[in-house]
Amino acid sequence: MKSKIYLSSPHMGGNEQVYVQEAFDTNWVAPLGPNVTGFETVIENYLGEGICVAALSSGTAALHLALILFGVKKDDEVLCQSMTFSASANPIVYQGATPIFVDSEKETWNICPEALEEAIKDRLDKGKKPKAIIAVHLYGMPYKVDEIRAISKKYGIPIIEDSAEALGSHYKGQKCGTFGDISILSFNGNKIITTSGGGALVTKSDALKEKAIFLATQARDEAPHYQHSEIGYNYRLSNISAGIGRGQMEVLDQRVAQRRTNHQFYFKAFSKVKGVSVFSEPSLDYFSNHWLTCILIDSKLASFTPKELRLALEKENIESRPLWKPMHMQPVFKNAPFYGKNGVSEKLFLQGLCLPSGSNLTNEDLQRINTVIQQLG
Ligand SMILES: *Cc1c(COP(=O)(O)O)cnc(C)c1O
Repeated sequence: MKSKIYLSSPHMGGNEQVYVQEAFDTNWVAPLGPNVTGFETVIENYLGEGICVAALSSGTAALHLALILFGVKKDDEVLCQSMTFSASANPIVYQGATPIFVDSEKETWNICPEALEEAIKDRLDKGKKPKAIIAVHLYGMPYKVDEIRAISKKYGIPIIEDSAEALGSHYKGQKCGTFGDISILSFNGNKIITTSGGGALVTKSDALKEKAIFLATQARDEAPHYQHSEIGYNYRLSNISAGIGRGQMEVLDQRVAQRRTNHQFYFKAFSKVKGVSVFSEPSLDYFSNHWLTCILIDSKLASFTPKELRLALEKENIESRPLWKPMHMQPVFKNAPFYGKNGVSEKLFLQGLCLPSGSNLTNEDLQRINTVIQQLG
């Protein structure tokens, strides 16, 4: 059996173990320490002026704390892009609130401005103002930042920017992870860089960062004994994991370049294959890290279906996956309201496929993938 080619696997840079060893040598084997603060500082410097970062145990934890910081409570409503990973929406339910799902537009596959505004107007008509908008940069592609921000401003509803897949992407020259009233990052094992598991909450306010860290460390009041006036969480990042993160940040730019090279490879590989389009930036305003390269297969024009390509790759021990199944189609969210008329996310789900996109793919791996594509096409 040929070795397995994964969709997106961890890719160490080399210095991760130096930082981890330092943690052991100094006995900072705890959810605090020099790697945690050091990791926060490098992300802050990377994202730019005025950015404050709290390192957390996961992107999901960061989303949960973002909702808490915006005061989301039981019976509140939160707008959320439907086409995303379930982790974008689950924390809404942790708070006892209701997700209001919104369809995508065709250009970036992300939250559709028209459907978003329609949703807001209808929820207002029904007597409730949504507490936040969760917008996602899917597969690294920036959402329509200007349009979504204009709607957020018009109705006074803050944006939680889910940048879990988009570290290294930018929009009109500004980095993803800096567009939300609060933003989140993920360092799960499959993301562009990883701490094995981890995440971060990104704000432009020291006070919000401090509040996030307070909530993430069991909400201890200042007192010599253990005293609590609020419910807290155990969401801080481990100093060991943060050591991995410091090493990974040193190679982030390389990782982005490598993933973008993969995207170019697929663009070429499919150039003569009928009915297949490779998901790409709609204009020069958008710069995607191409965390995953995805394609759409038009069954009327192509000689194969997404499932046929997936199974042909699987036969060669190559992993591929359908796109995220929209949340409004998920059994667990079947009662949640959904806005959108054009069926964009449903169509994307039916026609799409995510292809191996790791920054550690070798030329030999790409050749194996190309052979399957050319045989089918
Ligand atoms: C990975 C991911 C998350 C969750 O991050 P974790 O660190 O795995 O908890 C949230 N949203 C999106 C879009 C993701 O891809």
